[in-house]
Amino acid sequence: MKDDNCIFCKIANGEIPSKTLYEDEKFRVILDLGPATKGHALILPKNHYANLYELPDEAASNVMLLAKKMVSQMTDRLSCDGFNLVQNNGEVAGQTVFHFHMHLIPRYKDDVQKIGWKPGKPSQEELEEIRGKICGK
Ligand code: AMP
Ligand code: ZN
Repeated sequence: MKDDNCIFCKIANGEIPSKTLYEDEKFRVILDLGPATKGHALILPKNHYANLYELPDEAASNVMLLAKKMVSQMTDRLSCDGFNLVQNNGEVAGQTVFHFHMHLIPRYKDDVQKIGWKPGKPSQEELEEIRGKICGK
């Protein structure tokens, strides 16, 4: 399940070289070429799934287990102060490479990155309306 036109398929499967931190049968973890901070890494499945919607359940749970393992190792080795896990789906959400990937972003007390959003101020009625829409009741 590879896509011949997908750069992350080629990287994940070793056809294009990368700075690899970890590899097994199903995943490769690489350093991001445009890092938010020192050590910013990406978990790539070797199979092509465009996004979270296409990711099978088993791969989804394996991604989180691998993220946990990498975050522990990287925190030890980099002495970072925290971590953001980011996973974008769809252009509107900031996805630029349409092969599922999980960002692992080490955070340092003195880094200048901002990963966040402007909080809204919904009323209880607005919260109830969206809750009902999501839950169907
Ligand atoms: P996203 O915007 O969530 O789709 O993230 C794509 C990420 O892939 C960005 O952080 C890019 O810096 C990174 N990226 C793009 N091409 C490469 C590449 N060839 N090797 C490593 N990272 C890449
Ligand atoms: Zn791919």
